[in-house]
Amino acid sequence: AAKDAGRGCHRFYSDELHSAAEERAELEKDLREAIARGELELHYQPVVHAASETIVAFEALMRWNHPRRGSLAPDKFIPIAEDAGLIDQLGQWALRTACEDLARWPVATSCAVNVSPLQFANPELPNVVANALAHAGIEPARLELEITENVFVGDGSATESMFAALKRVGVRLALDDFGTGYSSLGYLKKAPFDRIKIDQSFVRGASEKGSRNGAIIASITSLADALGMDTTAEGVETLDELELVRVLGCSHVQGHVYHRAMDASEAGKLVESDTAVCPEGPRAARSSR
Ligand code: C2E
Ligand code: MG
Ligand code: MG
Ligand code: MG
Repeated sequence: AAKDAGRGCHRFYSDELHSAAEERAELEKDLREAIARGELELHYQPVVHAASETIVAFEALMRWNHPRRGSLAPDKFIPIAEDAGLIDQLGQWALRTACEDLARWPVATSCAVNVSPLQFANPELPNVVANALAHAGIEPARLELEITENVFVGDGSATESMFAALKRVGVRLALDDFGTGYSSLGYLKKAPFDRIKIDQSFVRGASEKGSRNGAIIASITSLADALGMDTTAEGVETLDELELVRVLGCSHVQGHVYHRAMDASEAGKLVESDTAVCPEGPRAARSSR
């Protein structure tokens, strides 16, 4: 009986693997058409300046409106795009679209776009970025590129010259998900980052007693201060987390405590209105507590 169960189990397992592979192949095929069919969309999450509680920027987050599967999050298709050699195309679309949207927003607003480490390996990236900016008529300093620590795996000198080339274009650079990857303080010395984004795994529960996260956040913000970089706390969900990351010196805050990602027209309305700040946000909640 045990043998039968084992066989059954094995059969079940290989069916699952088979269908996962099929699903992936199908998504890859669909993804090749997705840009042309207008199925990709950028959503924008507000980035709030901690001291003034005003929205100073948005982070562009990609969504895929799949004809049968509905709205797909980036974790579902960015890795496929990377494997299938489609990431440059997706990334180029994101840069152009974000710059076009940014052109409709007040000049004081900036926008961050996530860039895959694989795009960094393409020497054309600085031209792609410069063209997207020029096409939309955007001041380069209004665009920030977010890159994770994975960018440092591989050819160090090529990565360093890519950073230099992007700085010559005039965009800002942010180190995303800091502390979760292949972290080395040496990178902070070498790469001209303007911002460190503190990963939400350090923010989550940071205000709870006994958590070590607060000490980690404090040391990242003091390091960033000393190096002249801004810091964004990512994934801030509760008022307690918000108060803590402000006290610990994060210059910017992003998270559901303020706003989730929204479509471009909502983002535009929000940033145009004078109550834009955080309409029913934490400031109001705090003062009524
Ligand atoms: P990320 O760049 O670290 O983006 C932050 C993620 O945290 C987003 O997930 C955002 O929706 C989510 N988030 C924001 N605030 C909160 C919060 O308070 N609580 C929680 N639980 N989550 C929050 P999303 O949109 O699913 O994106 C996931 C990742 O996909 C991004 O992580 C980024 O690495 C990647 N990604 C998104 N758009 C692009 C893109 O255009 N190109 C590339 N290469 N990667 C992208
Ligand atoms: Mg990001
Ligand atoms: Mg992040
Ligand atoms: Mg992430």
